Amino acid sequence: MVAKNIADAVVLNNGVEMPWTGLGVYKTKDGEEVHNAVRYALEAGYRHIDTAAFYENEVGVGQAIKDSGYKREELFITTKLWNNEQGYESTLKAFEESRRKLGLDYVDLYLIHWPGKDKYKETWRAFEKLYEDGYLKAVGVSNFQIHHLENLMAEAKVVPAVNQVECHPLLTQKDLHQFCRDKGIQLEAWSPIMRGNLDETALVELAKQYERTPAQIVLRWHLQNEIVIIPKSVRQARIAENANLFDFELSAADMAKIDALNQNKRFGPHPDEFLF
Ligand code: NDP
Repeated sequence: MVAKNIADAVVLNNGVEMPWTGLGVYKTKDGEEVHNAVRYALEAGYRHIDTAAFYENEVGVGQAIKDSGYKREELFITTKLWNNEQGYESTLKAFEESRRKLGLDYVDLYLIHWPGKDKYKETWRAFEKLYEDGYLKAVGVSNFQIHHLENLMAEAKVVPAVNQVECHPLLTQKDLHQFCRDKGIQLEAWSPIMRGNLDETALVELAKQYERTPAQIVLRWHLQNEIVIIPKSVRQARIAENANLFDFELSAADMAKIDALNQNKRFGPHPDEFLF
């Protein structure tokens, strides 16, 4: 089902609702910058924020949530466990630190940030414990390839609800997406607008044709592919632009034109090579 508005949510494999569109806050400075970005997003109708311990802005995100006056249950907050905290006890400790910084009783979605080499199964046991204890509404992973998911699920009690991976027109992730669909795992795109590298001719032409911006064309393409998006910006006008996706529809032919841009090109590291 394609999202109908900025707050519209996908129902995850455990029944939890996750808004299709969120604000990413990687490289957004803690303090005023992240506070403003979250405020602009909430004003534009976003109800979903994606942070991580690694981004060092959980305090600012938490403060912005508190100051917003929104009820906790109206918002969907994701954070992530950083690589050097993997392992059972260290995960429990790191989560408590994130929860304290965010100032929240619970987190909506907690992700293993990168698979790393050989600790993610142990880490997942701690995720399952935090989930059972009610501190997490949903548990998921990030940057997991098919082989990581197969390996994890061979022993997991809880199937990940989400896999957040690099995904955009130059890296369409079709095989991984199909695998995740088959297993009931929602795909979520990081760097959904290619970190702002949007000067592909086909995207610029489609933007003209639909009287939209290239960012809106790409974000709409994700939504029509049923992929959750978390575009990052610190600018109020762009945060609003990136949420203005619900009054046009790309034709099947134009969806295919964007699919055809795939080059398996990554702007970030390859998960099999990011091993620390
Ligand atoms: P994005 O694809 O969201 O691109 C962000 C960049 O694009 C920024 O430089 C921003 O600049 C610019 N931008 C934003 N909106 C527009 C627009 N409408 N037109 C043109 N340029 C625009 O990249 P990210 O890497 O930030 O990915 C999004 C989020 O995904 C992150 O913030 C983070 O939450 C998550 N992420 C997760 C990772 C993981 O390993 N799990 C890895 C990387 C990201 P400006 O701010 O100046 O507007």
